[in-house]
Amino acid sequence: MKHMPGDVAEGFVGRFSAMARVDGRPVTLSGWRVAVKDQTVARKVADLLGGSVFTATHGAEVMTERDSLPIMVSANDISLCMALRSGNDSWHVCDGSTLLRPEGDRGTPCGCASGLRERRAAARAGRGAVPEVTIAFRLAGAIRLGAFVLLSSSWDLAASIPLVLATMEDCRDSSLCTLRLRREEFTTSGGVLVTYKRPEISVTPQ
Ligand SMILES: [Zn+2]
Repeated sequence: MKHMPGDVAEGFVGRFSAMARVDGRPVTLSGWRVAVKDQTVARKVADLLGGSVFTATHGAEVMTERDSLPIMVSANDISLCMALRSGNDSWHVCDGSTLLRPEGDRGTPCGCASGLRERRAAARAGRGAVPEVTIAFRLAGAIRLGAFVLLSSSWDLAASIPLVLATMEDCRDSSLCTLRLRREEFTTSGGVLVTYKRPEISVTPQ
């Protein structure tokens, strides 16, 4: 699976992203960027979440006003793996301890560091796998609109997934969850304050 902005994977009507690119640079948005294939779906998303519809090569895009939305999702719709890729090729897809792909090496130890800090350092240096979180969901206000997808490489989102799945465990069917863009900030070693938004999912208490 390729994390290209714009394209919507087969089987989905739209894709949610936390980032856009302006002049080739990643830009954090106040709301969600939703790439959709169909103008009717785009207008419905804008009705539900506020925002504007733009025409795009793949169909349409919605820049939403709201950064938080109720979604329906089941445990089977959430996947988490670690991957080291180069262009379109992946030569290391694992669950953090054993390989998932290449298929022939499935189940063998992958050699990734066990601690989060070491994993992040290896990824920053370009020799370690990064998380790939995929969440397939439906909009709680418009179930029939079809399935949307969110792909994210956020370490914080990845770290939260086991608890989300454990909370869902009791429910066989879809659970009502909240998907939001959470504002984070940190200060660089040079003293510059950086703010960004990352996706967050939580099971909505019933
Ligand atoms: Zn690994």
